[in-house]
Amino acid sequence: MINKRLKQLLAQIRQAEITYNRKPGDVLLLAVSKTKTAQDIAQAYSAGQRHFGENYCQEALKKQQELSAYDITWHFIGPIQSNKTKAIATHFNWVHSVDSFKIAKRLSEQRPSALPPLNICLQVNISGEQSKSGIVLNELAEMCVLIAALPNIKLRGVMAVPEPEDNFELQRKPFKALYQAVAKLGDFKLDTYSFGMSNDLNAAVAEGATIVRIGTALFGARE
Ligand SMILES: *Cc1c(COP(=O)(O)O)cnc(C)c1O
Repeated sequence: MINKRLKQLLAQIRQAEITYNRKPGDVLLLAVSKTKTAQDIAQAYSAGQRHFGENYCQEALKKQQELSAYDITWHFIGPIQSNKTKAIATHFNWVHSVDSFKIAKRLSEQRPSALPPLNICLQVNISGEQSKSGIVLNELAEMCVLIAALPNIKLRGVMAVPEPEDNFELQRKPFKALYQAVAKLGDFKLDTYSFGMSNDLNAAVAEGATIVRIGTALFGARE
């Protein structure tokens, strides 16, 4: 089941790359495995998937232990509490959900020196909802200056989780706005747009996504 869905998803991504004039292979599939078991992850792994995303630190660490023999690149994509930064800085390769300088600084300070710099994205609250985490767009430039100066993290780009929207053109809008805002920044060598989920994957690829974060379409619905 997971095997078949993975093949379909990769085909959908490749097709979207063609349709929207993206370079073949530009878009990485991040398998979002929150609430799913280590066994589910192992199945996707057997089918070739290597990048997995988790939202909850405790849950992720447990699965990482079970899967320690696997060559997995782990991405943290959930809200970050200060008391979890050490575990996150130690056990993940990427963090997509950085939304304050304080958290970025802690991740930099707590990244073990034996490991390469932690890849991070700034989460931007692009649809301006009160409830969602993320910095607002007009904080982006200043945050990039501050965070790019931190030693043990590497600022790679931005993540957006827009308000759910069924209309394709409306789905594209927030991604486009954020992509354009990044293009106007100084030269921070950003190369990552962590943009789409199961329901807005095509819109995200159309507007420059380089990582799509897919849970439901790969692993099925969550409880
Ligand atoms: C759960 C989650 C996803 C995956 O969402 P699906 O709709 O299941 O594909 C992607 N990004 C973030 C930040 C999430 O929390």
